[in-house]
Amino acid sequence: MKLYNTLTRKKEEFVPLCEGQVSMYVCGPTVYNYIHIGNARPMIVFDTVRRYLEYKGYQVNYVSNFTDVDDKIIKKAVEEGIPAEEVAKRYIAECKKDMADLNVKPATVHPLATQEIPGMLEMISDLIRKGYAYAAEDGTVYYRTRMFADYGKLSGKNIDDLQSGHRDIQVTGELKEDPLDFVLWKPKKEGEPYWESPWCQGRPGWHIECSVMAKKYLGDEIDIHAGGEDLIFPHHENEIAQSEAANGRPFAKYWLHNAFLNIDNKKMSKSLGNFFTVREIGEKYDLQVLRFFMLSAHYRSPLNFGAELMEAAGNGLERILTAAEHLKRLSASASGEMTEEEQQLFAQSGQYVQKFEESMDDDFNTADAVSAVFELVKFCNTTASGDSSRAYADALYGRLGTLCDVLGIIIEKEEEVLDEEIEKLIAERQEARKAKNFARADEIRDQLAAMGIMLKDTREGVTWKRA
Ligand code: AMP
Ligand code: ZN
Repeated sequence: MKLYNTLTRKKEEFVPLCEGQVSMYVCGPTVYNYIHIGNARPMIVFDTVRRYLEYKGYQVNYVSNFTDVDDKIIKKAVEEGIPAEEVAKRYIAECKKDMADLNVKPATVHPLATQEIPGMLEMISDLIRKGYAYAAEDGTVYYRTRMFADYGKLSGKNIDDLQSGHRDIQVTGELKEDPLDFVLWKPKKEGEPYWESPWCQGRPGWHIECSVMAKKYLGDEIDIHAGGEDLIFPHHENEIAQSEAANGRPFAKYWLHNAFLNIDNKKMSKSLGNFFTVREIGEKYDLQVLRFFMLSAHYRSPLNFGAELMEAAGNGLERILTAAEHLKRLSASASGEMTEEEQQLFAQSGQYVQKFEESMDDDFNTADAVSAVFELVKFCNTTASGDSSRAYADALYGRLGTLCDVLGIIIEKEEEVLDEEIEKLIAERQEARKAKNFARADEIRDQLAAMGIMLKDTREGVTWKRA
């Protein structure tokens, strides 16, 4: 499996630090509002990366934070006249709801910056001890950027170019030794949330949060660090400077960055005001369509959001769901094991799995992986019919379901089965049993099972529950 590493600027073979295990850190959102669909792009693509790694048999430790203390959160809290903590708590809950609707798996851990302050104080103290950081007179702690010899290695920026760029915009009154130095800890302003520290009552800078959370939950050295491409500089560059100086080890082995979701070829962003929230899109479309739309492009290619492409994604998804439903119906009405011919056909369908894997192995090329799924769909539609055995329909359904699950696409249509329908089938099964027609009784049990209804025969009669 090859992936494109921003750090080395080439596709590399993926070799995890620990065989069979992957540690992965994905920078999460700052929670001061509903997330927009641009923010959803890294969530969806890196969830798909995780799912594929799991499909390949890796045990993935997936950590994604919430930045729950920040200028924007504080501003929103002031506007609403409520504590910053309440704003963050509300939008974390809303974000988790959107993630669930997008079928993004919950992370192994979702750390919150405000819960990790002791670790941050520790790392900042460590950096000061090692000479990589210093406290200014007002209690601000800065990172001494020039001390880190490798600074710029991720973004490819040259420190002297940065220096001359910064000279013009040097802010007077700042107590930095060097304009390139960045903040690790800053003093509170009136009314802001703060924590005690050896330097001043204050709060952490954004970059230190991720270095500390990655270290605590994944260790000094991690396999994959990911986020949107706007995070390469300065956020990820600064994370590297902090973590490598503090830990004395390389930080992340592979750096993955998704390209932007655009509108009219401009980055969708809150500050430009050209965004749609996931919530808004969810009112117009099934969010499975949004997920499918995101995966129709390679994650490193810019993607322009628009009604036409969403419609195409909706149609494509429908084709897959219809094929799955068709197989399900065939399975319910058919019976028996695969014929020899079917066994051969099923083996033949393995070529689409292979194509799917080859695409995903090539830097998670979901666009090509989706094409492989379409080819499998076509194969299912042409080879499974009313004459097929149940085993054949089931096997194809399983194969289609497995590939879709890697993409996070749910093929099981959630049709609301009414209680009355269930009760009616259960009564019919009881009748069949009374008449000693056990074959029919078993058939009904299977039919109910396919609808997700589990039966339990008790002394008091039959009870049922939804699986
Ligand atoms: P933020 O809350 O702005 O820190 O963003 C959270 C995540 O969303 C980061 O990984 C960003 O890089 C990513 N992101 C923000 N806007 C976009 C966009 N328009 N397209 C793709 N990713 C984005
Ligand atoms: Zn981060």
